[in-house]
Amino acid sequence: TGRFIVGGNWKCNGDRASVTALIEALNGGDVGDNVDVVVAPPFLYVDQALSELKSPMQVAAQNAWVEYTLEDETHHYDSDSGAFTGEVSAEMLEDMGVPWVILGHSERRTLLGEDDTMVGKKVAHARFHGLSVIVCVGESLEQREAGATMDVIFKQLRAVADEIDDREHSSWGSQVVIAYEPIWAIGTGKVATPEQVQAVHAGIRQWLKDNVSEEVSKATRIQYGGSVNEGNCETLARESDIDGFLVGGASLDATKFAQICKSS
Ligand code: 13P
Repeated sequence: TGRFIVGGNWKCNGDRASVTALIEALNGGDVGDNVDVVVAPPFLYVDQALSELKSPMQVAAQNAWVEYTLEDETHHYDSDSGAFTGEVSAEMLEDMGVPWVILGHSERRTLLGEDDTMVGKKVAHARFHGLSVIVCVGESLEQREAGATMDVIFKQLRAVADEIDDREHSSWGSQVVIAYEPIWAIGTGKVATPEQVQAVHAGIRQWLKDNVSEEVSKATRIQYGGSVNEGNCETLARESDIDGFLVGGASLDATKFAQICKSS
């Protein structure tokens, strides 16, 4: 479905010197032509990546703020500014010309307490500011073993679909990418099998067809993330519903990352 899309999630890694070197190495490498490439540095280095990373490689933020509290479901879309110490708003990303944002990563869900509703609101809010979104979904090992994988993912998707209104439905196929990242495969070296990933991706696509529209289900790109490397990417990329990858560890090595980008 659509153009292959590979994201590099640098997470909270790097320093001035290594970020500069990584951008240089990416610029000097070859990620191939028929792939969208999006790299996500920590916030402090986003501006540097914006100015130094060569087109058509694009930049993403790893998070964006949305004003949302459980007590007050109404939030205002006119401005994100306010007393939210430590946060970076979607409005600021738009202002800086950052085209992409990763939302709902499992590390934010588990370590920072983001729940499904908050992630849904973040996605809608980022779309409101014109940002393209990679929204992450995925189950824990416990949930997989309990046979709850698809239920967990459908609940995460429902929270997104509930927040994106009809006006935005027409664009969410191309501008909202879903990253399926089983938590047990992230940073563990324990990659999901192509069959496991294909089954979940097909389930996600069917859910989109039944709950959003056939058009959106066809247009939405579904990435796999979790211990993707230069050795396992090609077999995974052969599965019909794997439309790209979201890469953590291996994205910090420009040579490995370029190989993954070319695996389509
Ligand atoms: P790893 O590739 O390091 O397993 O991380 C995956 C991930 O969480 C990307 O967002």
